[in-house]
Amino acid sequence: MTRGAVSVLVQELIAQGLIYEGATGEVARGRKPTFLHIRTHDRLAIAVDVRFSKTFLMLSDFSGRQLALETYDTIFNVPQFVKDLAARIRRILKTRGIEGDCEGVGVAVPGMVDHRTGRILNAPTLGWRDVDVRDPLAAATGLPVQVENSGRACSLAHMWLERGEAASTQSFVYISVSDGVGVGVVVNGELVRGHDHIAGEFGHMPLSLDGPRCMCGMTGCWEAYVSNLATLSRYFGWNLSKLSPKSLRDAERKTFSVPDLVARARGGDAKANTAIQSTARFLGLGLATIVNVVNPDCIYLAGEITSAWDL
Ligand SMILES: [Zn+2]
Repeated sequence: MTRGAVSVLVQELIAQGLIYEGATGEVARGRKPTFLHIRTHDRLAIAVDVRFSKTFLMLSDFSGRQLALETYDTIFNVPQFVKDLAARIRRILKTRGIEGDCEGVGVAVPGMVDHRTGRILNAPTLGWRDVDVRDPLAAATGLPVQVENSGRACSLAHMWLERGEAASTQSFVYISVSDGVGVGVVVNGELVRGHDHIAGEFGHMPLSLDGPRCMCGMTGCWEAYVSNLATLSRYFGWNLSKLSPKSLRDAERKTFSVPDLVARARGGDAKANTAIQSTARFLGLGLATIVNVVNPDCIYLAGEITSAWDL
């Protein structure tokens, strides 16, 4: 893009009040640059993170600052999910929306999403196949709604909100380990989506044909070795292949979590330490494949298991 074209776009954004000019920078010679800032404080967004066990609903401003947070058991029936979510959004905006204008809702789901239509093509842990959450939620709230795969949403958040050195990383992989494994791959500053929206689904790369059953229906996926449930099942001796989806859900919702397991390992529980070390080995196996395939500048690893980094 030419300098002139950028200036025209910037002037338009300033006229719309979306960005504003700040201080002038110092350079050795030539015209001094003017810093531009995105207007964030009075522009709000609703972020929804739908996971197998819980759904997180957050009201934030455009800088990602959390203003309110609700957590509740995930509803698997889609019409009920939308109805309940719309009611929660209306309620949260009624009480906190005075702090600015809500400009939209972003919904992150653990599954394949057609970015253009917003349709959720397959979210196996939720049992959602070819469902539309975007349009009914937009109709019920009167707000624009975007639906995105959770690993990709993490990557986009990293690109848009990070400051300093981390913001300059152009090729990176973001891995979020929780109920499942969400992965977002960014190459040369662009999120890789793939022809059929499944690029970067490393969570379902098979580590072994005879491995534990994954919630996607296959066996031996990376996710089945490193998810929070996989780590806890090692400690408690659960056989993931024999648990029904309902008992998996109940196990996931139990109050004992990976941070509790990490606390036990720190307290000298050798079995807890073995379960965590085993997850670490399988995490390393998958990471080595990602490094060989993508060769990123950097890999970001998020999730409860990262609190055990120094064990
Ligand atoms: Zn799988």
